[in-house]
Parts: sequence; C-alpha cells; structure tokens
Amino acid sequence: MEHSFAEEVKKKTMTRILTITLALIFALDPSNLAIGALAQDDAKEKLDYAMIGRIKEEGLNRSQVMNHISWLSDVYGPRLTGSPTIKQASDWAQKRFKEWGLVNVHEEGWPFGKGWSLERFSANMIEPQVSPLIGYPKSWTPGTPGVVTAEVVYAPISSEADFDKYRGKLQGKIVLAQPMREVNVLEGRVVLRMTDEDIKETQTTPIPARTGGARGESEFRRGSQMQSKINAFLLAEGVAAVFDRGADNVMSAGGSDMTWRTQRTDGGTIFVQSGGPRDQNAGKVPPQVTLAVEHYNRMVRILEKNVPVKVELNIQAKFHDEAGKNGFNLIAEIPGTDLADEVVMIGAHFDSHHSGTGATDNAAGSAAMMEAMRILKAVGVKPRRTIRVGLWGGEEEGLLGSRAYVKEHFADPAGMRLKPEHAKLAAYFNIDNGTGRIRGVWMQGNLAAKRIFEQWIEPLKDLGVDLLGPRSVTSTDHLSFDAVGLPGFQFIQERLEYNSRTHHSNMDTVDHVQREDMVQMATVAAVFAYNAATRDEKLPRKALPAPTKPNERIE
Ligand SMILES: [Zn+2]
Repeated sequence: MEHSFAEEVKKKTMTRILTITLALIFALDPSNLAIGALAQDDAKEKLDYAMIGRIKEEGLNRSQVMNHISWLSDVYGPRLTGSPTIKQASDWAQKRFKEWGLVNVHEEGWPFGKGWSLERFSANMIEPQVSPLIGYPKSWTPGTPGVVTAEVVYAPISSEADFDKYRGKLQGKIVLAQPMREVNVLEGRVVLRMTDEDIKETQTTPIPARTGGARGESEFRRGSQMQSKINAFLLAEGVAAVFDRGADNVMSAGGSDMTWRTQRTDGGTIFVQSGGPRDQNAGKVPPQVTLAVEHYNRMVRILEKNVPVKVELNIQAKFHDEAGKNGFNLIAEIPGTDLADEVVMIGAHFDSHHSGTGATDNAAGSAAMMEAMRILKAVGVKPRRTIRVGLWGGEEEGLLGSRAYVKEHFADPAGMRLKPEHAKLAAYFNIDNGTGRIRGVWMQGNLAAKRIFEQWIEPLKDLGVDLLGPRSVTSTDHLSFDAVGLPGFQFIQERLEYNSRTHHSNMDTVDHVQREDMVQMATVAAVFAYNAATRDEKLPRKALPAPTKPNERIE
C-alpha cells in the first residue's frame, strides 16, 4: 500500500504522542514500582572496596579453614544425621562460633527418625584362601549376631521372577546379590579442573531431554521399590548377610549442573550409602555390605568353578532411638545494624555419609562457611543486614534440614503461604560441590541478579572467580530456598576428584582436600555475604513458584 509523505508524518506524530502519554500514565501509577526495581538492578553497585580488601587479606593470609576441616572430619567424622558424632561436631562448632563472637548460636531441631552408627566391622574370606575384604556396611542395616562364619553363594537377583530360583536355598548364607561388574582401565577424567571447553559449557542452559523428568522419577521409584522387595525376600529366607559391589563406575558429574563426565575410580574405593529405612521398620532388612568390586568379583570367579567360598563376618551396628527431633540445623549470626531485621544467609550441609569422614562432602562447605564468618568477625564488619550461617543436617537423606528450616521460617512450598520472615531474606548462598575453588555462581535462572554479581566478581577475578552460569542446578540445599521463591544460589566450583573418588565414598578424607582451594572458597563466600549485607536493596527475586503437590520431591 502506498502512503503519502504527509500521512506518514502524521501517523508517526500520533504514535509518538500516544507513547509519551502512555509512559506518563505508567510512571504516575504507583503499582508500577517494579520499573524502579529494574532500574535499581541495573545500577552500579556501591561496593566497599576497603572492606573487601581487608576480607581478602584476612582470608588469604590467616586462614584457619583446614583446621576446621580436620576437626570436623578427622576427629568428629563421619557425621551421619542422627548419630552421636554429628552432635559432637556441632558442639565443637558452637564453641568456635562463640569464641569468634558470633551471637544467637543454637541448634534448631526437626524430626528425623532413628539414627545409626557403626561400632565394629570386619570381613575375611577364610576359604579357599585367607584374604581380608575391603568393604563397608550400608548405613541403617543391622549387624550380625557376633562373629559369623558362612558359606558364600552367588545369587544375583534382578526381578521377582528370580525369587523362585533361590527360595529355600539361602538360609544362613552370605549372598552375592549383584552380577559381576567388569573393571575397566580408567580412560575418563578423574581429576577435574575446568578446561576452556568446560567453561564454555557453564555459559549454556541445557534443554531437558524430556519434560518434567517424570520418567526418571518413576524409574527411580521402581528401582527402590524392587530393592525393598529383594531385601524383604532375603530377610524372609534368613540369609546371614548380603554383599554387593556398588554401582557401575562411569557416571556423569551429577545433577543438572554438569554434563562433564568423570570416571569413578575403583581400586579399593567404595561408594556406599543407606540400605534400610529409619522409621519404625528400621533394622528390618538383612545385614548388607558393599565390597570393593575386585574382592567381590574374585569370589564370584571362584564360585563359578564350584570351589566353595567361606567368609568370617562381624558387623556391630547401633540404631539410636532418641525420640522426637534428633535432626538439627546449626545457626549463628553476626548482627546487622540499620537493616538488622533483614538477613543474608550462607550455608552448607553439616552431615555426611558414613564410610569416609565427610571431608569433601561436606566438611569442605561447612568449614568454608564457618571460616567466612570468622573472617568477617576478625575484620570487624558492621554489616547493615544480619549475616546468618546455617549448617544443615539430613541433606544426604533429601535436603531434610534446610527444607525444615525454610518451612519453619519462610514458607511451606505446599500451599506457598509466606511467613513474615520471607520478606526479610536478602539471599542464600550454598557450598556443596567438594573441595575445589569457587569459579563463580550458578544463577538459578535469576537474570536480574546476574547484573549485580557481574560487579561483585570484578574484585575477585584475581582469585579465579569469573563465571556466572545462567542455569538452575539441583541436588543440594539452595533448592529449599529456591522452592519458595527466595534467591538461593549454589557456587560454581572446580570438581577435582569429587565425583570420581570422594563423593559418598570411603575415600572422602582430609587427604583429598586442597588447601589453596579451601582458603579461596572461604574468602569468596565472606565477600559475597558482606556485599549482600551492605547493598541498598535485597537481591532481586524470581517470580514466586506455584505451590508443590504434597510429597513432591524437590531434590
Ligand atoms: Zn553434599
């Protein structure tokens, strides 16, 4: 269609007048304050460079972080939720917090179920040859009635159809219940420091292969239901114990945060978790031990030659019946000043699995956050907002501690009715990916916060903090905050041996903790806490999520 020049000018003028009028109406309407908030998010951050400098100086030159880790891991590890040692670790940490001058130091309890601890374990093959076995009982499984000597049978069970095959044949036997697993030469990466390729990967958001993850969820459920049926069958058959050789040794680096793959190491490293319920049915499973794959396979190969195998086994395990709230979170604070009723939280899970000492998972995160608080007190910060550290229990059993805390203080994701404290939380920062240094922050899809963190990481680039990854990551405690619309963030860390060697394994020991990385981690966490506690506004939030269905998992 043809337009005359005059018509064109008239049209453009009308459009301009309309635009200006709309803009005026919009600006005068107080319900459009969000526009002001957007401008604020884009504004230049007023960083306190003098204080950031002092935090870095204290954190890098007088770090105590390795001392915290050694106490939490060597002395009080492992710290299984509901066990006596996590309580001892908490008592130790509370003493340190008080010494450093933190206030409001206390535990907040929540119901967990029965605790479990291991008192003794030994396993020796005694026929056809004598050989000590490398292994570890699964948590929440019962012990043996003293030292038992039993014949070993190979009876891999994968479905209910297999039950008939073995019915009546397993009484008093030690059962090798998994098929053999081939041990391959390590060809994948074992120690992971990010390459250029990996760094590029952090800047992308992976598109989920299928919607909602519903299939993965039901597969997971089917798997654990089958395991319960197998346990019930073996218990009814009266087996002496069940041995397995752990999961396959190739895995991705975990959760939604990485597509980088590392190879799990064998060679005496055992990845072992829970083997039974902790409710009123606690202990109603057979004794279960995960063995080093090499020792497991040897017994299978001997049995395949019709040569009998005997094992002498002693497991002494204890269930802790303390009633009520035997899960706890540990809380401590540096009080704020003019905005003291607003809170910045930093945190990490304090609990661990039971076979190592919980050094990289997650004394590392706990010690870094403790040290961040020590640094902040040592340099005499007077933050505007209160800075609060939360060390969570029950993370390994499903983010139980942080979920209980969020429900108690901020909101229940089922129903999403917000408590007054919900309006007061400026941000939550979490560490739970092992001992590797902080490379940046996973933005959890919070694009507005990205503009702020771009400025915060500027004075931390000399420490290697240079990445803001847009994607949402899962599998740890920041999710409890994210689930109720609070700005919860997980730091991006170098993975090192986390997924290949130490995560939930008997080799999660202080020897695998890297000092320089830890010193950096605590210093960076302190700077983030301080910045969040001193800026004019709380950190921007994403839209409030829809309420979850009852019992929906947010792991
Ligand atoms: Zn962890």
